[in-house]
Parts: sequence; structure tokens; C-alpha cells
Amino acid sequence: MTASEAVKRGPMTSLERWLTALSLVLLSACGSGTPAPSSEPGPAPEAAPASGAAAQATAAQPAGAAGAAGAAGAAAQAGPGATTGGPAQGEAAAASVRLYALDCGRADIQDMTYFGDDGGPRTLVATCYVVRHPRGTMLWDTGVGDEIAKSKDGVLVDRKVGIRFSLQTPLRDLLGQLGITPADVQYVAFSHMHVDHAGNANMFPGATWIVNRRELDWATKEPAPAGYNPAQYTSYRSVKTKLLDGEADVFGDGAVTIVPTPGHTPGHQSLVLKLQRAGTVIISGDACHTHGNWEHRRTPPFNTDRAESVKSMDRLAARVGATHARFLVQHEPDDLAKLPRFPAYLD
Ligand SMILES: [Zn+2]
Repeated sequence: MTASEAVKRGPMTSLERWLTALSLVLLSACGSGTPAPSSEPGPAPEAAPASGAAAQATAAQPAGAAGAAGAAGAAAQAGPGATTGGPAQGEAAAASVRLYALDCGRADIQDMTYFGDDGGPRTLVATCYVVRHPRGTMLWDTGVGDEIAKSKDGVLVDRKVGIRFSLQTPLRDLLGQLGITPADVQYVAFSHMHVDHAGNANMFPGATWIVNRRELDWATKEPAPAGYNPAQYTSYRSVKTKLLDGEADVFGDGAVTIVPTPGHTPGHQSLVLKLQRAGTVIISGDACHTHGNWEHRRTPPFNTDRAESVKSMDRLAARVGATHARFLVQHEPDDLAKLPRFPAYLD
């Protein structure tokens, strides 16, 4: 079932709910005090995750051999743009980890002060990443909802602030370029559940969702906090979840690690990859939105905790230094542009 199918049952379309949620983020940044849409009778989830899911949640476990065949299959379909040859033979698991960067939406913003940056217009990108590991495939974030692609010129999501979202190629089609469908994705990990990261969450009802426990608690509050559209992730109640309370080694070999970086939201997290050729790559999530914010430790006014945000950036910076990592600001278009052009990959 697609996200749009899921929400058609509700009284609002997913686009409407999405726009409402985004407006609330921006309005809260303006300090307008606009109330959250508590009266919306949409598919709002319970206040807390199902106890069964929470009780079952553990630090991520290796996925076992089942995913290996899929990864091998995809390797053969990496496409003509692939930058490197096949996986090194006889190497450890991390040797054949591949990182694909997907353009999962653009945000044209008229005034970046709403994100704590210097004023003026900017275009940000909603990058998602596919991580192919011999033990399985993980998607990091799901971008804006695929329904945005139906609007050729994008969608003006906030007239007052001036933010237009657009999507060239739906996530489902991008996965198709890798020769996989949503059902082939074993893990979907979320930096956080804001509308530009969880837009296609419901496209993955068969995957294990990896979310920080505090994030899911926060994202399923009633009424939903600004920036969240619970209709986008209703499947959390039925999917397998791994609710994290700290760091998690997703495949059990140190190649793919999720680390908590709270502050933008209570349960925000970032991604650390160990690639054989590229070395350590650290992906910010929204620990920072721009290079400028990273360098100057600036935070959007709507972050849930500024002090925590700065501490998280400091911890990430220490990790970048200690591992000589390549640091990717997930919303920065030039960081996406410097990566191998999809469907090529980094390994
Ligand atoms: Zn974001």
C-alpha cells in the first residue's frame, strides 16, 4: 500500500496534511503561535508506540544471510554510471558496502533566516541514501512524499515564508533504477520524522523501521508537534521496529552505525558509514541544515533544544575529526552534487 493510498481514507489528502505540518514548522519559527491541528480527525496514532513493538525493540541485529542475495543481485545492476568495479573479493563485509545518494525533493526557500542561516533565498535538497550491505539494504530517510512529483512546478507550501517543494523523480522510481522495489528494503532508518524525511514512510510496510525511541514518542504525540504529519507514518503501528536508545550497529560489523544527535528534534540521529575506499562518511540528517550553520553552530529557531543541538554538532565534529570522515550535510545541494551521480555509488 502506498502512502497516498493509506491517507486517502482520511478526511484530508496527504498533501494537505503535509502542507499543514510544514506551515506549522515555519509558523513556529515565526513565533506566530498558530495552534497545531488538534481538531484534525485524521489517522493520528496513539500517544506512544505499541508496547509490543517497544518491548521487542533492541539494538539492531545482523539481518542474516537472507539479504545477501538481494545485495549481490543489485550489485550486478549498479548501472553504467557506477564509479567502481565490483566488490573486492574476499574482503570483510564492510568492503562491499555501497552508498547511493538519491535526490528525494527540493525546497526553494525565500528567506533562510527561518532555518537560522544568513538571510536570502536558497535551494535545499531532501537527500535520501540507500545503503547496500551484503546482509541487506537500508534506506536512510524517505524524502518528501512521492505525490509532490505530480505537481510539475512544485508546490508552494508556505506562501508567507515562501517555500516551494518539488520532486523530480519519485522515490519508488529511483529505487527502480537500482532494480529494487520498496519490498526489497529490509531497513528504513529515520534521522527524524519531519515531513521532508518521513514523506514516504508508509511505502515500506514490510521493512523494519529504525527510529530513536524519543523520536517516535515525540512524532506520535497528540496533537502532532509542528513539522510532523502523522498520516505519513501510520504504518509504525504494524511494522517491525527497532527503537533506539543510543548508538546502533545496524549490520553487526561496524559498517553502518546510527548515532543519536538530538536537538533539532528530541530523537534526532545521524548516520556513520565505514566504506572501504571512501573511508568514513558521516551523514548529518538535520543536525545542521547548511554548511554555514555547521561552521558557526547556528540552529533553526524551531529546533526543540538549541543547547542539545550544539552539543550534537560538537560530538559529530569530534567524530569527524577522529575518523577523518567525509561529512555530508544532508540538505546541502552541493554535498549531493559532489557524490557519484545516482545510480553510481560511493564504496
Ligand atoms: Zn529536513
